[in-house]
Amino acid sequence: MMRVEVPAGPAINPSLGRVVLVAVFWLGLAVAVVPWWQDTPAGSVAGVAPTLTEVGRLAGIVGGYLLLAQFVLMSRISRLERWAGGNLVLRWHRDVGASLVVMVVMHVVFILLGYANANQASLPTQTWRIVTTYEAMISAVVATAILLALVLLAARAVRRVLPYEVWYLVHMSSYLVLLLIYGHQFADGEQFLPAGFGRRYWTFLYVVVVASLVYGRVVAPFRLNRRHRLRVREVVVESDDVFSIYITGRRLKELQVKAGHYFRWRFLARGCWWQAHPFSLSASPNGRWLRLTVKVVGDYTAKLSMLPVGVRVYVAGPSGVFTSDRASRPRALLIAGGSGIAPVRALLEELPRGAIVIYRARSGEDLVFREELEVLAEARGAEVWFVVGPRDDPDSRYALTPRGLRELVPDVAYREVYVCGPSGLTSAVVDTLRRLRVPERQIHLDRFEL
Ligand SMILES: Cc1cc2nc3c(=O)[nH]c(=O)nc-3n(C[C@H](O)[C@H](O)[C@H](O)COP(=O)(O)OP(=O)(O)OC[C@H]3O[C@@H](n4cnc5c(N)ncnc54)[C@H](O)[C@@H]3O)c2cc1C
Repeated sequence: MMRVEVPAGPAINPSLGRVVLVAVFWLGLAVAVVPWWQDTPAGSVAGVAPTLTEVGRLAGIVGGYLLLAQFVLMSRISRLERWAGGNLVLRWHRDVGASLVVMVVMHVVFILLGYANANQASLPTQTWRIVTTYEAMISAVVATAILLALVLLAARAVRRVLPYEVWYLVHMSSYLVLLLIYGHQFADGEQFLPAGFGRRYWTFLYVVVVASLVYGRVVAPFRLNRRHRLRVREVVVESDDVFSIYITGRRLKELQVKAGHYFRWRFLARGCWWQAHPFSLSASPNGRWLRLTVKVVGDYTAKLSMLPVGVRVYVAGPSGVFTSDRASRPRALLIAGGSGIAPVRALLEELPRGAIVIYRARSGEDLVFREELEVLAEARGAEVWFVVGPRDDPDSRYALTPRGLRELVPDVAYREVYVCGPSGLTSAVVDTLRRLRVPERQIHLDRFEL
């Protein structure tokens, strides 16, 4: 019989955290607008040209602020994610990204129209004059071009066809945008005059952003990896295209990690060291080893199956909020498809007794951890349903329809529901849960997509 250990650690009230983060965001933006407001007395914006120009300036200030907020959202500061919730940070990143580009385009268009109107010049003439005479304007043009390219790349249709590595590298050029916009703001911005409050405030904002990035993406991972010195202990085949990697290291008991968390793993082996990929834990941390379970879907995951024992591992994280401390209900329902069984298998060790697991797989061969799930179910008074059949098999599909799910789990609306798997499955399940009136706060989703 397998022995189960439940790690400690305080939960943070996400809704309070979210309120604090949103309040700080809006307060920060309000303060950023103050110098413009003070410099733009009532009555000074009279006529077409001044109105266009001031709208352009305000859009520039808001755009500059959103750019900085964007970087804080991607700083991987764990408290931010814990306070907001992983999926929400991603959603904010997407929304702020879209608003940022709208603000930047408004800034460019309104400023050009305003100046052209004031100078009675044509738009092309005015544009050329501004680009060739204003300091740091070339960098502003380059930064705007990169931002527009990033928005294009974020389109789902483009992401689907683009190799992840290419998308990732182009996305890294956003750091160049930060540098270029900094130059443009401090050289051309009306509110950035020497010794002004505006200049001091924006300097403070840039320092906060750079400090968050350095801490979240460099210092915190470096400290964690120096402390725990992780190595590959064993690679175990689970099925034809799924294998588990057991990781050992120092002081694992002290690692603040829970079932449902994922790390970005960098395996310092030939052909792998230059990439870091996210994988969830597939067993609850037990202080002796960590386990991740990988489905081969591409070239990198194929290489991982041949990792030699002893390879050093460098991780960033833990990340994600697909964890038991998010549960507000005493009992849980866990729905997994494909490699989504990994965090679900781990969560079953930590969630209270009486959980129900529905594991959707195309064939019996695709089922991994079958024996572990059955042993755990017995140990934790849980039920496990294996729903096996091809994608279009009516019986298997029925199990996840509102009627089918209610038959399997009559009290579904009173359970905390964790869903993990391919996006087609997760979207269909979320739709079913909503139709069964399961409250949104009880639905936890891990789409395996960032
Ligand atoms: C939070 C999270 C947890 C995950 N947990 C697991 C797990 O426990 N087990 C498992 O088998 N898979 C997991 N995945 C998926 C896994 O990260 C990808 O399957 C893997 O990175 C594919 O790499 P590849 O080069 O072999 O395939 P590719 O063909 O290059 O990529 C296949 C797809 O994987 C995604 N992907 C590729 N590289 C990355 C990357 N560096 N970062 C993010 N996404 C990437 C892209 O969307 C791409 O379309 C998880 C993904 C996320 C986002």
